[in-house]
Amino acid sequence: MKPNIKPGKLFIDGKWRGALSGKTFPTINPATEEVITEVAEGDEGDIDLAVRAARRAFEEGPWSTMAAADRGKLIWKIGDLTMKYADELAELETLDNGKPFSHPLGSRNVDIPYTAECFQYYAGWATKIYGETIPVRANALNYTLKEPVGVVGAIVPWNYPLLMAAWKLAPALAAGNTVVLKPSEVTPLTALRFAEIMQEAGLPDGVVNVVTGYGEEGAGAALVRHPGVDKIAFTGHYTTGQDVMRNAAGTLKKISLELGGKSPNIILADADIDSAVVSAFWGIFWNKGEACTAASRLFVERSIHDRFMEKLVGMTDTLVAGDPFDPNTSLGPVVSSEQLNKDLQYIEIGKKEAKLVKGGGRIDIGTGKGYFLQPTIFDEVDNSMTIAQDEIFGPVLATIQFKDLDEAIQMGNDNIYGLAAAIWTKDIKKAHIVAKKLKAGTVWINTYHTYDMGSPFGGYKMSGFGRDLGMQAMDLYTQVKSVFVDLNM
Ligand code: NAD
Repeated sequence: MKPNIKPGKLFIDGKWRGALSGKTFPTINPATEEVITEVAEGDEGDIDLAVRAARRAFEEGPWSTMAAADRGKLIWKIGDLTMKYADELAELETLDNGKPFSHPLGSRNVDIPYTAECFQYYAGWATKIYGETIPVRANALNYTLKEPVGVVGAIVPWNYPLLMAAWKLAPALAAGNTVVLKPSEVTPLTALRFAEIMQEAGLPDGVVNVVTGYGEEGAGAALVRHPGVDKIAFTGHYTTGQDVMRNAAGTLKKISLELGGKSPNIILADADIDSAVVSAFWGIFWNKGEACTAASRLFVERSIHDRFMEKLVGMTDTLVAGDPFDPNTSLGPVVSSEQLNKDLQYIEIGKKEAKLVKGGGRIDIGTGKGYFLQPTIFDEVDNSMTIAQDEIFGPVLATIQFKDLDEAIQMGNDNIYGLAAAIWTKDIKKAHIVAKKLKAGTVWINTYHTYDMGSPFGGYKMSGFGRDLGMQAMDLYTQVKSVFVDLNM
C-alpha cells in the first residue's frame, strides 16, 4: 500500500509545506524493515510558524467566533469522516506501527472506531461548557466564564498514534482551543492523513497544525518551550514527562502528563479462573504489550498458581505472528528495532533474575525480516526485580505469587507507577475494598482493558497527572474567569 500523504510535508495554516531546513527522515514498516516514505523533519522554526498560525486562528476567527453548536457539529463530522476513511486510516496505522489490521483487537476494530467515538463524545461537550452564578456580597453580581486556554501543544507516542492524538484534539477543539500536534517520529503517518480529513470536515485553517519531527532535539522540545503555547498535553515516557515539566517551567505553561505504567493484575483464588486467564493473556499481549496500561505484573494467589500458569502459558501458542495485514495474524512486530533491542535486553536481565517459562527470543515469520518477538512469560519473579519494576513496553510478562490479599495489595502498590490495576474475585465486597486500596488512576474489577470515552483516564504517582477522557478532560482545556458587576448604581 502506498500511503495517501504528502511526503516530506508539514501541515501548517491549512497548507502543506516542507520543513524550513529542507530535512526529512524515513518512517519504517516494522514488519518488513523497509522505508515506507519520507517525512518532514520540523524543528524550532517550523514550530514557530505553526504556533503563530494557531494563535491567529484562535484570536481572529472564524473558529473563535463560531457558535458552540456549530463547533460541535464540525467535531461530530470529523468522527463521521474518520469512519468513512476507516480502512485507509487503519491500513496506515498497521503499516507504520505493525499492529494487526483485522484482528478483533487490531487497528481496524479498535483504534479507528475509538477515534471516531472520541470526536463524537466531545462534539456533545461543545455546547455544555458554561460557568456559574455565585451568591456573593449584596449589591454585586458575580459569574464565571469557562474559556478555552488558547493554543494547545499536543505531543503523542507511537503505540496508539491516532487514538492518543484524538484524546487530546477532540476535547481541546470542543472547548474552542487551537492545536499544534507533534506525532511520534516513529509513527507519523495517520496524523498527517488526519489533518486532511479534519480540513475536509470544514475545520478552518490554522485550527489544527501538524508538525512532524523529533522530540528532545527537535519539534517536541521546541513546542514545549515556545512562549506562544498556553498548554502542553503530553503522552509518553515518564522521563520525557520530566523533560516536558522542566522545559515548560520557563513560561509556566499548564501541562498534563499521561505517562507509563507497570500495572498489577491480581488474581485471587476464588476468581473465575478461565475468564481471568483470557484477560491476563490479552492484558499483556494486546497490541504486542505496547500499551501504557499493559497488565505487565501478574499476581497469582499461591493455591491456584500452577493451574493458572498452565492455562496461561498454553494459551500463548494460539498467538499467530505474521504479516499484520494477514487476517490470521494476531501478533504483529514490535514497533521499531530500538524497541526490539530494549525488549530483548530486559529479557536477558529477566533470564538472570527469574524463570523463563515461555518465549524469550525473536521470531522469523519466514521472510528473515521484521521486529517480531515471541510472547514471553517469566515466572517466580520477585516484585523487587528489574523486570517487575521497570516498564518494558513489550510482550513480556512478570508473574509473582502471593500468600494473602494484604501482600498482593502491598506489592501491587510497590512501584513508581500508578496507571491501572485489576482485581479478580467472585467476592464483590472484597473487590471494592481492594479497589479503594490500589493506588492507580483506573481499577478494573473482573475485567481488563475496558475503556469508555466518558470515563476519566490518567495516572497516580509517576504515571502522571491530569485526566484524559470524560468530563474531567474539559478541565484541562478550559480556564475560569470570574466577572464582578457592581449593582449599587
Ligand atoms: P516518548 O516519551 O519517547 O515520546 C513521546 C512523544 O514525545 C514523541 O512524540 C516524542 O517525539 C516526544 N518527545 C520526546 N522527547 C521530548 C522532549 N524532550 N520534549 C518534548 N517532546 C519529546 O514515548 P514513546 O516511546 O513514544 O511511547 C511510549 C511511552 O508512552 C510509554 O512509557 C507508555 O507507557 C507511554 N504511554 C502512556 C499513555 C497514557 O495514556 N498514560 C498512553 C500511551 C503511551
